Amino acid sequence: MKIHEYQAKEILRRFGVPLPIGKAAFSVDEAKHVAEEIGGKVVVKAQIHAGGRGKGGGVKLADNAQDAAELARDILGMNLVTHQTGPQGRIVKRLLIEEAMDIEKELYLGVVIDRAVQRIVIMASEAGGMEIEEVAATNPEKIIKEWIDPCWGLQPFQALRLAFRLSLRGAQARKAAQFILNMYRAFVEMDCSLAEINPLIVTKSGDILALDAKMNFDDNAVCRHKELQSYRDLDEEESLEIEASKYDLNYIKLDGTIGCMVNGAGLAMATMDNIKLAGGEPANFLDVGGGANVERVEHAFRILMSDEKVKAVLINIFGGIVRCDMVAQGILEAVKKINVAVPIVVRLKGTNYEEARQILQGSSLPFVVAENMKEAAEKVVAAISGQH
Ligand code: GDP
Ligand code: MN
Repeated sequence: MKIHEYQAKEILRRFGVPLPIGKAAFSVDEAKHVAEEIGGKVVVKAQIHAGGRGKGGGVKLADNAQDAAELARDILGMNLVTHQTGPQGRIVKRLLIEEAMDIEKELYLGVVIDRAVQRIVIMASEAGGMEIEEVAATNPEKIIKEWIDPCWGLQPFQALRLAFRLSLRGAQARKAAQFILNMYRAFVEMDCSLAEINPLIVTKSGDILALDAKMNFDDNAVCRHKELQSYRDLDEEESLEIEASKYDLNYIKLDGTIGCMVNGAGLAMATMDNIKLAGGEPANFLDVGGGANVERVEHAFRILMSDEKVKAVLINIFGGIVRCDMVAQGILEAVKKINVAVPIVVRLKGTNYEEARQILQGSSLPFVVAENMKEAAEKVVAAISGQH
């Protein structure tokens, strides 16, 4: 789950992370009002669930409240395109108005999980700011790392070592170390999958502040944090994914043309691999789960078919707990209700799969039945090429 910068900052403030004064605004008037409250120079920042806003024109400095109002007028409603939004961009509906800072130095700080060593890793760099991706790609030695032992958690000496390696000294190094310790605590207590501050700044007066903030959360732990529910911004989420989450379907929209309906995440991944191998592109990841019944299959089908890009469907179900004949029945019901004008390739294996095949082949609908996964992937790719 992703949240906005201003929301991440609300959370980080609770954990004692130092931040500029600021407040969210949803209209030009509100933006002006907040800028007046803050007084002096402010920054007007577009709030979307994507980074790279600075380069895309979504972060602007204003000399006074009047200026801020004008910038707010420009940015609110704009279609902000950044390297993270994709070419279609995102419409800006919220702003963060913040006191402007005099920046001496822009650093980078990120807390993520390093899957290779199964530990949290803290990454930091003196080369923070808008070019950090470039730095990571061309000068990876400029990114320093500190891995955390899960038994002990982040130790103060590690935080201080990071600060020293960021060329900070004395009181400033101690401030930075405390900052890092607080970030780590926020990451663990909030069940984050990522917490990133870029830039982490040293001001001209020597203070250390989080100028930007990004927090992602482990979806499986969101239920432990009731307050996160109110942070959800459905405008920023894929509408089909929202629909799927209502029925507990694990659906992720992708860019290809072959819609997939599979039970089990592992089988879903393998199915996508097979489609790729056969020369096709999956339109989605969809795990209908272990308890796939007629109703779930129907919902899944409807969601899958709402994606206009889908040119063919591959259904790949292993009947372990679920019975294949029930799945076949579900497919039939769904196809009757939804007008499916694309080829459907079906591969069912496991409990009652013969009955399932009879149900499908006995229907008047043109299903293509496949015996194994490879054959299914090849048949679905062939079905699409035949359309041209
Ligand atoms: P991002 O581009 O989406 O990561 O947005 P950021 O919040 O990181 O802002 C982009 C850039 O705007 C930062 O790297 C800073 O250089 C600049 N910026 C943001 N806030 C301020 C500020 O208060 N003062 C100054 N001088 N620059 C700022
Ligand atoms: Mn940033």
